[in-house]
Amino acid sequence: MIVVMRPGVTQEEIQSVISRLEREGFKTHLSEGVERTIIGAIGDKTRLRDENLAVMPGVEKVVPILHPYKLAGRDFHPEDSVIKIGDMTIGGPQIQIIAGPCAVESRSLLLEVANAVKEAGATMLRGGAFKPRTSPYSFQGLADKGLELLAEAREVSGLPIITEVIDQSSVDAVAEVADILQIGSRNMHNYPLLQAVGRQSKPVMLKRGLSATFEEWLLAAEYILKEGNSKVILCERGIRTFESYTRNTLDLSAVPAIKSLSHLPIFVDPSHGTGRRYMVAPMGRAALAAGADGLIIEVHPNPEEALSDGSQSLTPEQFAQLVKEIKPIISATGREL
Ligand code: PEP
Ligand code: MN
Repeated sequence: MIVVMRPGVTQEEIQSVISRLEREGFKTHLSEGVERTIIGAIGDKTRLRDENLAVMPGVEKVVPILHPYKLAGRDFHPEDSVIKIGDMTIGGPQIQIIAGPCAVESRSLLLEVANAVKEAGATMLRGGAFKPRTSPYSFQGLADKGLELLAEAREVSGLPIITEVIDQSSVDAVAEVADILQIGSRNMHNYPLLQAVGRQSKPVMLKRGLSATFEEWLLAAEYILKEGNSKVILCERGIRTFESYTRNTLDLSAVPAIKSLSHLPIFVDPSHGTGRRYMVAPMGRAALAAGADGLIIEVHPNPEEALSDGSQSLTPEQFAQLVKEIKPIISATGREL
C-alpha cells in the first residue's frame, strides 16, 4: 500500500507511521518529494488495515498499489532512481553512452576498441565474456579469460565495465570485475538468476525479454529489487514481431512507457534492436530524443571479421560520428553527456 502524508507533515508523524508499519512486519520505503511525502509499504495486510493507518496523525490517504510490480512502480517511488557508479550517475541529468564489442575476442581487439570508444566520447565499455548464443556451434566467449581482459581494459581506458552474466554459478566472478552486471534478453525470465543478482550489490542492467510485455519486464525487475538490490537499469533491445527485415523490432515506445510506469532508468540498445548497422545511429538518436537515459552500442574495428554480431556493429569512426550527432539532441532534451 501507499501512505500519502499531508502537506506540512512533521518528522514525528512520518516516523510514527513507519514504526507502526514495521512493527506489523511491513517493509517500508520513504519517498520525500518536493510536494508530498509518500511511504510505500509491502507486507501482509491481515494485521494492519488501511483504515487503521488512515486515521493516524499526518496521514492524508492510504491507497492500494494497483500494479503487480510494487518496488519497480512509480506509485511506490515517485522520484526517478539515480544510480551512482564511481563519479558517474545513471538516471539523473547525465546521459551514459556504453560502447564496445559484442564479445571480448582478444586482448588486442578489446584494448583497441576501449581506447577508440573512449576517445570518441563513450562513458562505459561493454563486452561479453560469456555469450548466450542462439546456436551452440557459435563462438561462446572467452569466459574467465574474457573477464580478466575486461579488468585490464578498464585499467587502460579508465572506462567502467558492463558485461553479461548468464548463470548463477558465475555471478560472483562477474560481479568481481563488472561495474554493471548485464542480464541478457534470453535470461529475463530466469528467476533464480534474477534473485542471485539481486543478492549482490553491483548495479544490474536488465534487458527486455524477446517477447516480454512491459509488465513481465517490470516483474522481472521486481525479482531483483525484492532481494535488496535497488540498482536496476532497464534496457529496451527490440522484441519479436512478424517483421523479418530487422533482427528485432525496436520498441521505442518502451521509453515513455517505462518512464511513466517505473522510476528505474531505461537505456536503449539499437544494435540488437535492429541488427542492421545503418539503422543504429538513427534509432540511437531517436531513443535519446524519446528520453532514454543512455545507449548501449556495439563497436568493432573490423565488423566483417567479428566473431559475433558484425552486421550490427559500428566501426569506431561511425561510433564517433554518432556521438557528434547525439550531442545537440542531448542538450535539446535538457540532459548532459
Ligand atoms: C548483448 O548485449 O551482448 C546481448 C546478447 O544482447 P541481448 O541479450 O539483448 O540479445
Ligand atoms: Mn551482440
